[in-house]
Amino acid sequence: MENINQKEESITVAVRIRPISQLELSSDSTISWDVAGPTTIKESNGNRLYIFDKVYDETTSNNLIFEDLCEIMIWRAMEGYNNCLLCYGETGSGKTFTMQGNRKDPGLAFLSIDTIFAYMQYATTKEFIIRCSYVEIYNESINDLLNPKGLNLQIKEDKKNGIKIANATEEVCHSVAQIHSLLALGEAHKQFSGTKINPNGSSSHCIFSIIIESKLRSSESEIFAISTLNLIDLAGSEGSGMNIQSTLASKNREMKHINKSLITLGTVIMRLSDKANTVHIPFRDSKLTRLLKSSLEGSAKILLICNISPCSQNYDESLSTLKFAQRAK
Ligand code: ADP
Ligand code: MG
Repeated sequence: MENINQKEESITVAVRIRPISQLELSSDSTISWDVAGPTTIKESNGNRLYIFDKVYDETTSNNLIFEDLCEIMIWRAMEGYNNCLLCYGETGSGKTFTMQGNRKDPGLAFLSIDTIFAYMQYATTKEFIIRCSYVEIYNESINDLLNPKGLNLQIKEDKKNGIKIANATEEVCHSVAQIHSLLALGEAHKQFSGTKINPNGSSSHCIFSIIIESKLRSSESEIFAISTLNLIDLAGSEGSGMNIQSTLASKNREMKHINKSLITLGTVIMRLSDKANTVHIPFRDSKLTRLLKSSLEGSAKILLICNISPCSQNYDESLSTLKFAQRAK
């Protein structure tokens, strides 16, 4: 089991450029980035090229990205391997669209859930238990998005259960519809929790976890496999770029926490992707990386989708996102 797919990369970094908005069209902003190939972004006013595992232009649907990069993660998750999907980018760059999408183009979370349930129908020799939790990390506090009273939850770590959030709601889910209502409940609670001042949740990291337990129908009680699929809509990365970091980091507590956890995430992913892999990996430097540890390391696979705006007024933040993406590779 351990060695399956070991030759494949454990980290995939994709960049997605969102479409220009009506408002941007009517302003005098220009396009800063062009997709120059399936893995290459080019600066429109120059020759600078940026290369990633995959690059998606504004015409790409969530469905295509899912088939390209996520479907395989779901198969792995169903076989007992941990996976982590992270959407990174400044506020307004398309992270939530990528994760949630809309009715016409459902996002990666919805497509993942569909695929999990389709797989269960097909894998008739196995029995599955699916559990879900939904938390946000806001100002280094973990809040339960499925229970408005679950504020400032603590991380528990022990040999037997690994890393867990004490008292976070974990609901056993029997249908796609049930998970959809959990997602909707979480959305509703985001409005009332710490993110109230920032109503689209752009200052918190939102982590939807799907825990998949399976055993062979023929075996008596033994758990056959357990894995977690973490779907993360990260806090807006604005101001966390290396160059502007020092000026903005001290702006306020919220910003400082976001910066620290995104920078730590970048360092953790960079060190994980370092093949020599002898250096210390600072998982414990932020709640986000501490929580995600087991879905980032070992046989886990990471899919990082970095979202950028195409427009010139977002140039600095987009560049900073591309630099983050390059560092992760
Ligand atoms: P973020 O979560 O990064 O703050 P959003 O996902 O909310 O950004 O995107 C900002 C706006 O752009 C939203 O109105 C969203 O619907 C739209 N948008 C983002 N990406 C796309 C896309 N690929 N196709 C169509 N609309 C998009
Ligand atoms: Mg968002």
